Amino acid sequence: MTQSRYARQMVLAEVGAEGQKKLAAGRVLIVGAGGLGAPAAMYLAAAGVGSIGLVDADQVDVSNLQRQIIYDNADQGRDKVTRAAARLQAMNPEVHVAAYPTRLTAANAVEIAAPYDIILDGSDNFSTKFLLNDLAYKLGKPLVYGTILRWEGQASVFWAPHGPCYRCLFPEPPQTYVPNCAEAGVIGAMGGIIGSVQALETVKLLLNGSQGPQKDGLEPLVGQLFHLRAHTMETRRLALKKNPDCPCCSKSPADIVLRDLDNACDANAAKDVPNYAAAELAVGDRWRDFIPLDIRESQEWLRGHLPAAHHWPLSKLQEGLLPELPTRSKPVLVYCQSGIRSQRALQILRAAGWQNLAHLSDGFGAWRGPVVFT
Ligand SMILES: [Zn+2]
Repeated sequence: MTQSRYARQMVLAEVGAEGQKKLAAGRVLIVGAGGLGAPAAMYLAAAGVGSIGLVDADQVDVSNLQRQIIYDNADQGRDKVTRAAARLQAMNPEVHVAAYPTRLTAANAVEIAAPYDIILDGSDNFSTKFLLNDLAYKLGKPLVYGTILRWEGQASVFWAPHGPCYRCLFPEPPQTYVPNCAEAGVIGAMGGIIGSVQALETVKLLLNGSQGPQKDGLEPLVGQLFHLRAHTMETRRLALKKNPDCPCCSKSPADIVLRDLDNACDANAAKDVPNYAAAELAVGDRWRDFIPLDIRESQEWLRGHLPAAHHWPLSKLQEGLLPELPTRSKPVLVYCQSGIRSQRALQILRAAGWQNLAHLSDGFGAWRGPVVFT
């Protein structure tokens, strides 16, 4: 370990040589190498956290670069974890970085997470957040939680039995559609702020070690929710209550069965159907080769839609009601506003046995062809 590299933090009373050794021995698994996970990983690697694991199945997309500043323009199309690991390694060759280019699932979660001390949630979907909560509780590890949307962000540390878990707050995933960053938008710097808060909480947990959540005045956000509203830079720290009937932490860790939840934000749902960009289908009226199915809600439909489209909102599909189209002689082109909700619709239609489906990958928002109003 090069002492001079860490001199600015080793001078702190709470760190010192002993604390730096704890950081070097620390093992942190970061799930999601995106807006939150990437900045968190950079600060942890720079601080000398000895072993960092990165889990993410995605490739770098141009739309990531607005906030995922670990990636370069030239990284587009390449595996996120491979590129992020190379960048962290170049930043600090003293740390070990393991890349897992896969999606964390109930089947692989225990095996991947077992060697690590702390799990950092850099995910952007409920399926992974609930899985991580149950996984962390089952393995007895602290979960450093973060979430960002639009101009707001939150962070906490879920570490039952020292405090509540995520399911004490949200027992089950939301049943109605909740927009994610791709749909609702996010300011890139929010990822930097909340990801850095997560890195900070992780460092505090590593320094406190096995002595529990509190030592030397370092109090990680166990049982507390940090909230930032960037419009006014108002911050709040809310005390979180443990739910005695929590579906997770009221049970014994050994009784926790990990499950993959139905995921409204599943970016892979459209992988097995033909995907078309709006620009592609506008050329030579190629859209006429399809039966467009608009799954947006009524207000959105009324503001304009594709010609000859059928309207069947996602909310109806989620209630188990399927559209009856007069003909299915051509492929059914499923679309929403941005290509996110339509993936959920595709999942439902495929599960109902529909075939000959196609996907408008960038949604009605990118559509520059003819629009009709009804
Ligand atoms: Zn709980």
